[in-house]
Amino acid sequence: MNQKTFSDWRIEAAVMQIEGRAFIDGAPRHASTEKTFPCVSPIDGRVLARVAACGEADVDAAVATARRAFETQSWAGMNPRDRKAVLLRWAALIREHRDELALLETLDTGKPIGDTTAIDVPAAVQCIEWYAEAIDKVGGEVVPADHHLVGLVTREPVGVVAAVVPWNFPLLMAAWKFAPALAVGNSVILKPSEKSPLTAVRIAQLAHEAGFPPGVFNVVPGGAEPGRLLALHHGVDCIAFTGSTRTGKAIMECAAKSNLKRVWLELGGKSPNIVLPDCPDLDRAAKAAADAIFFNMGEVCTAGSRLLVHRDIKDAFIAKVVAAARAYEPGHPLDPAVTMGAIVDRIQFERVLAYIEAGRREGRLVTGGAPVREETGGFYLQPTVFEVKPDATIAREEIFGPVLSVIEFDNVDDAVRIANDTEYGLAAAVWSGDLTTAHEVARRLRAGTVWINGYGEGGGEMSFPFGGYKQSGNGRDKSLHAFDKYTELKSTIVRLR
Ligand code: NAD
Repeated sequence: MNQKTFSDWRIEAAVMQIEGRAFIDGAPRHASTEKTFPCVSPIDGRVLARVAACGEADVDAAVATARRAFETQSWAGMNPRDRKAVLLRWAALIREHRDELALLETLDTGKPIGDTTAIDVPAAVQCIEWYAEAIDKVGGEVVPADHHLVGLVTREPVGVVAAVVPWNFPLLMAAWKFAPALAVGNSVILKPSEKSPLTAVRIAQLAHEAGFPPGVFNVVPGGAEPGRLLALHHGVDCIAFTGSTRTGKAIMECAAKSNLKRVWLELGGKSPNIVLPDCPDLDRAAKAAADAIFFNMGEVCTAGSRLLVHRDIKDAFIAKVVAAARAYEPGHPLDPAVTMGAIVDRIQFERVLAYIEAGRREGRLVTGGAPVREETGGFYLQPTVFEVKPDATIAREEIFGPVLSVIEFDNVDDAVRIANDTEYGLAAAVWSGDLTTAHEVARRLRAGTVWINGYGEGGGEMSFPFGGYKQSGNGRDKSLHAFDKYTELKSTIVRLR
């Protein structure tokens, strides 16, 4: 339970010293060109810090030190329990600095402080702890083979892993990648989004304090350029990316053009939330539908951005969703009572506004649709609900903002067809009082995660794999399956005679 008040957080924010340097080879560094970019808070448009704009020389330096750490086995060669101890120390340090990191994340992204203290930072800590604990529990195989042979299958770290991540959950999305990658012995280069670089830089310093050997964990802030350079680099063995489908495709091309590094992609979504007429609890479903699109300002890859409602209950259900949306009144993100903060930056704000305009042309605006708190210099939007046809632009394209498209359907087949008629396949949900129907629909939904009579549950459980079908990506974050991405399988065959 966080006891700090709005005024406490504002005072802390005003006096905070913010680090903007990259972290390479165990030390903070300016970009070799000395170039920086301004890190602007979407809360009020204030410049928080100038951050190193890493370029080719910095990426080369990060790759070289990461490679050296891997070749010398300074990390991969440690006993598993010693690697575990370092990761657990790091997790403990991040927990100790929870308020500082939550404040950085809120200032940088506009996320409510109540969320960054209760979700973003603790979930990242839990993720690191979970993979640390797994280090000495996951072994290889001794496989059945001819009698004169001993067959071993072992997992080895892939080498140098680049993690390129987005801005919506900067610390957590990064942790989903670096925690399993480091646990199995890789060196990591983290490239945070230019919209949210601050927590990455800070946790690198804490990693150093926790005892990682130099070069094992590096951070190279900047925009697309360092990301592209990592994707093209011959010294990178694997690139794990979370972000847009467009960038994911570009990264895959870079890998194909260079060294065929392994490419793992967690991409966009346009997730359907289907409410059948026998939904067991319409009030709970309406609240869940609102949370699914308005939590984190809709900047969630699994946002339930398409609400598919049966014609018989549509009008009553929309009224309940509109009522539930009132819980998301935009306010100052440092106020612990606020549940809806600012949109991450002007570019994203204008992008969402353009979709709202498209929604006005193609559908019926039910509620919201306007900017608010403009006098603050920040980027705030009302929670917005449209009723549209399935082929409307806002029902097809990922908006990544607080805009819900409600779509009517006639029967279960119709609902499944509309739900699956998308290039994405990240998540989906179905609400029904009949478990047979619900399971049958769940099976037919082409998505990596499906909820029955809920939305978003299990998000905090590390045991569920997370990822997409179709153009929502490949591979899975979270769970032991994530180790598949950061290890090579080796068969060792011993001839006894
Ligand atoms: P983005 O693709 O614009 O950027 C993601 C990262 O890639 C950033 O660090 C960016 O600097 C970098 N980048 C940009 N161009 C690059 C290039 N050509 N080569 C290499 N790197 C490049 O995405 P975003 O706007 O930061 O994030 C929003 C997107 O992320 C949404 O589409 C959302 O659905 C997706 N997302 C997916 C998941 C998931 O797990 N599936 C989670 C969160 C966000």
